[in-house]
Amino acid sequence: MKAPAVDYLRPRTLTEAVDLLAHASVEARVIAGGQSLVAMMNLRVASPGLLIDIARLPELHAVASYSDAVTLGACVTHAAIEDRRVADPSRGLMPRVASTLAYRAIRTRGTIGGSLALSDPAAEWPAVLAALDAEVVLYGSSGRRSLKCTEFTTGIFQTKLAQNEILESARVPKLSPDARYGYVKLCRKSGEFASALAVVVTDPRRGYSRVVSGAANGSPLVLADTSRLVAEGPRDPDALRGTISGDLDRASDRHFDDFQRNLHTVAAMRAVQQVLV
Ligand SMILES: Cc1cc2nc3c(=O)[nH]c(=O)nc-3n(C[C@H](O)[C@H](O)[C@H](O)COP(=O)(O)OP(=O)(O)OC[C@H]3O[C@@H](n4cnc5c(N)ncnc54)[C@H](O)[C@@H]3O)c2cc1C
Repeated sequence: MKAPAVDYLRPRTLTEAVDLLAHASVEARVIAGGQSLVAMMNLRVASPGLLIDIARLPELHAVASYSDAVTLGACVTHAAIEDRRVADPSRGLMPRVASTLAYRAIRTRGTIGGSLALSDPAAEWPAVLAALDAEVVLYGSSGRRSLKCTEFTTGIFQTKLAQNEILESARVPKLSPDARYGYVKLCRKSGEFASALAVVVTDPRRGYSRVVSGAANGSPLVLADTSRLVAEGPRDPDALRGTISGDLDRASDRHFDDFQRNLHTVAAMRAVQQVLV
């Protein structure tokens, strides 16, 4: 099926894009890579009357490296991260993740901002940026605000993005040279969305350790007890299994059947093992 007819505008600045979004008389949506939105329009899951194309706005391609963090403009593509054409604050984690996301054709157009704004529960970036303790910068009619990624995604396709706001950038803390990470994506065949995701980041120099489960029937789930256990160092795998399982069971806002619980536990155990070996 083809998408229904829709008006299309391409603003020249971010401010102009926000003005168009705020003052549209029909349902307006920004379009970045279009890799999710166009499919949603074809399927009639989304029917905006106006598309505001932000893909070429220079502000949204800006990448800046600071002493403690890198900011990546929302329209940086998955492929640019995979190919290391932009600064990498994560010492290889983000390029590795990008290479597992969808197919190369999708990665050449799909953007990190589009993925965060959509917050598909099975998407990689919401989980990985939560594990890295990143923030998103949102720009709207009343100015800018920053939110931790752990607060930004609130549920399945749900975020704190307001109707008149555009996700401008992600601010990702730099990992220190001592940092370690683990990443596991379980899916039926490469290029598909994950059935389970696990991301582990430890950075002893910053006293930081976080284990996150993605594709977990909701927003990315921080496994708090497992994160503490990982910070303490190598563990017996059975203790780890029990702790991960306990963290999943304590997430009262979601239900895992036995198969899903096992899938997420195995993913988290494998990701933790990558950090501990
Ligand atoms: C076959 C297929 C397989 C895929 N597999 C995976 C996968 O394994 N893992 C994965 O993570 N993703 C996967 N994707 C999704 C892909 O990564 C998309 O690129 C991504 O989710 C959306 O990015 P986009 O730039 O294309 O956004 P668009 O499709 O342009 O927009 C998506 C939504 O976000 C909004 N939006 C976009 N940018 C902004 C912004 N800066 N501020 C505010 N709102 C914004 C749009 O209004 C729209 O509602 C897959 C897609 C396809 C088609």
